[in-house]
Amino acid sequence: QANERESLYLVSEFAKEYFHTTLLKTEEGKAIGLSYFKERGFTEETVEKFQLGYSPDSWDAFTSHAIKKGYKLEFLEKTGLTIVKEEKQFDRFKGRVMFPIRSMSGRTLGFGGRILRNDKKAAKYLNSPESDIYHKSKVLYGIYHAKQSIAKEDNCYLVEGYTDVIQFHQSGIKNVVSSSGTALTSEQIRLINRLSKNITVLFDGDAAGLRASLRGVDLILEQGMNVKICTFPEGEDPDSFAKNNSLEELTLYLEENAQDFINFKASLLAAEAKNDPIKKAETIRDMVVSIAKIPDVIKQEVYLKECSRIMDISEEVLFNTLAQILQKDK
Ligand code: ATP
Ligand code: MN
Ligand code: MN
Ligand code: MN
Repeated sequence: QANERESLYLVSEFAKEYFHTTLLKTEEGKAIGLSYFKERGFTEETVEKFQLGYSPDSWDAFTSHAIKKGYKLEFLEKTGLTIVKEEKQFDRFKGRVMFPIRSMSGRTLGFGGRILRNDKKAAKYLNSPESDIYHKSKVLYGIYHAKQSIAKEDNCYLVEGYTDVIQFHQSGIKNVVSSSGTALTSEQIRLINRLSKNITVLFDGDAAGLRASLRGVDLILEQGMNVKICTFPEGEDPDSFAKNNSLEELTLYLEENAQDFINFKASLLAAEAKNDPIKKAETIRDMVVSIAKIPDVIKQEVYLKECSRIMDISEEVLFNTLAQILQKDK
C-alpha cells in the first residue's frame, strides 16, 4: 500500500514535469499555453514557482510518453491522468493549461486544468479525480508556498481559485490559499489552524454562491478561529483586482474592506430581510446558529450584542435562542 502510494507520487511528479516542459519547450505549448499565461499577466518567475504547465491537445500524447518512459498503466490510471476505455488509453487533460496541486511538503498530488477558450460545452476547470494520494477535501491549493507566510503574518487569505492564489503571490502577498471550487471542509481549515488562528475569506464579486459559501465559514468559527470577510467589486475577483491595482492599492483595499464575519453576515442578512418579517425571523435564527458555533462564550456574548444592534432585536431574545440551539446540539 505504501509502495503503491509512492508509485502514484512518482507518476504525478513525472506528469508535472512533462506538462511544465511541454509549456516551455514545445511549439504548441509556447504558442497556446505560455501565451495564455502571459496574457493573464503571469511572469516567467511565476510560471516557474507554481510549476505551471500545458497538456497537448492530443488523445494520448502524455500517456504514450509516460508508458515509453516505463511508468505503468495501472498507476497512470489510478492517478486519473489516463482514462482507460475499451482497452484504449486516453489522456484526461487535453489542450489545457495545468496547475499542479501540491501538498504541504511540496509533493504533487493532482492537477487542475483550465480550457483556453471559454466555450460553453467544456467545463472551465477539470480536476484530477480522488486517488490514494489526492483527497480534495484535505488539500489547499497554494499551501506549500504559503505556509511560512501564514505563520509569519499570522493571517491566511482564503480565495476561490488557482489564479487568485497565483496573482496574489505575484503582487507580493504570499499568505494565500484556495479550496479551488470545492466547498470548504474542516480538514482544510485544520491545515490553516495549525499555522494561524486568523482567516480572511475573499469572495469573488459575483455574489453567486455567497450565501452558500457563508455556511462553510461556520466551520471556521467552530475551530475557534477569527474570521473576516472581504468581497470584491462586481465582476472582479482577487486575481483581476490584484492584476489591475498596485500592491499598495490592494493592501489598502483589503484593510478597508475586510469586515468581521459576524458583522458582515448580520448586515447582509438584515438588508436582505428588510421588509419581510418571516425572512427576518429566519435570518436571526441563522445568525444565532453561526454564533453558537463559536467555542468561546465571551466572544459569543460580544457577538450577540452586536447582532442585536445590527438586526434590531432584543439581546434577551437572542440569548434565549442561543440557549435553545445549544441545548438541541447536545
Ligand atoms: P478564471 O479566472 O481562470 O476564469 P477563476 O479561478 O476566477 O478562473 P471561478 O469561476 O471564480 O474561476 O471559480 C473558482 C474556482 O472554482 C476555480 O479556480 C476552480 O478551481 C473551480 N471551478 C470553476 N469552474 C469549475 C468547473 N467547471 N469545474 C470544476 N471546478 C471549477
Ligand atoms: Mn522549470
Ligand atoms: Mn474567480
Ligand atoms: Mn478569475
